[in-house]
Amino acid sequence: HFITFEGIEGSGKTTQIAKVAELLRGQGYNVVTTREPGGCPISNAIREILLNPANDALENRAELLLYAAARAQHVAEVIQPALKQGQIVLCDRYTDATLAYQGYGRGLDLDLIEELNTLASGDCRPHLTLLLDMPHETGLKRALERNDTQNMCDEGRFEQESLDFHKRVREGYLFLAQKDPQRMQVIDATGTPAEVSERLIACLQAYLDS
Ligand code: ATP
Ligand code: C5P
Ligand code: MG
Repeated sequence: HFITFEGIEGSGKTTQIAKVAELLRGQGYNVVTTREPGGCPISNAIREILLNPANDALENRAELLLYAAARAQHVAEVIQPALKQGQIVLCDRYTDATLAYQGYGRGLDLDLIEELNTLASGDCRPHLTLLLDMPHETGLKRALERNDTQNMCDEGRFEQESLDFHKRVREGYLFLAQKDPQRMQVIDATGTPAEVSERLIACLQAYLDS
C-alpha cells in the first residue's frame, strides 16, 4: 500500500505520520515512512537547494524541475523497492503537493505538472491520500510557532510567501480532492493531535479493511 499525506504548512503531516506509523506497526504491519522533497541522499541534496532561504532567486520552472528530479530518485530508490517488498509506505507529501504548490500556488500549468509528475513517479501512484485540511492561517501559525531548528532554518523559503499563496494552495488541494474523492480523503486537521489521529486511523482502517 502506498499512502501519502498532504496538506498546507503546519497542518500536522509530520506529527501524524509518526503516530500512524507507530500504530500500524503495533498491529504487525511493516511500515516505511518517508518524505518529499527528500527521502534519500540525492533527493535530500536537492531538498537543501529547494528550501535554502539564500536561494530566493530560484526560478519557478527550475523549482518545479528540481521537485520532479528529487521525486524520480526517491521513487526509484525508496518507494518502489519498499512496495515490492510488500511494505506499507507512508509518504509526507508527494505528487499532489506539486500540483498544489507549483500549480495552484505559483500558477504553473497544471497539465504540464501532471505530465512531469507521471514522468517522475512512473506508475507509482498513491492508493490513498490523506489530505489534512485546516484554515491556512491556523496552519501557518502552527508552522511559525514550531521551534525546531530543522524547520525554521533550512526550510525558511515558505515564510516569504504571502497568506494568499497559502490560501491558493489550500484551495488547490481541496479542488484536487473533489476531482478524485475515491483516492483523496479530506481529514479535518483542527483539534488536538489525538483527535486528528483518531480521524486518520478511522479512514486508514476502512481503507485497509476494504
Ligand atoms: P510542514 O508542512 O511545515 O512540514 P506539517 O504539516 O508537517 O508542516 P507538523 O510539523 O506536524 O506539520 O506540525 C506543525 C506544528 O504544529 C508542530 O509544532 C506540531 O508540534 C504542532 N501541531 C501538530 N499537530 C497539532 C495539533 N493537532 N494541535 C496543535 N499543534 C499541533
Ligand atoms: O513538508 P515539508 O516541511 O518537508 O516541506 C518543506 C517545504 O517545501 C514546505 O515549506 C513547502 O512549502 C515546500 N514545498 C513546495 N512545493 C512542494 C512541496 C513542498 O513548495 N511541491
Ligand atoms: Mg512536515
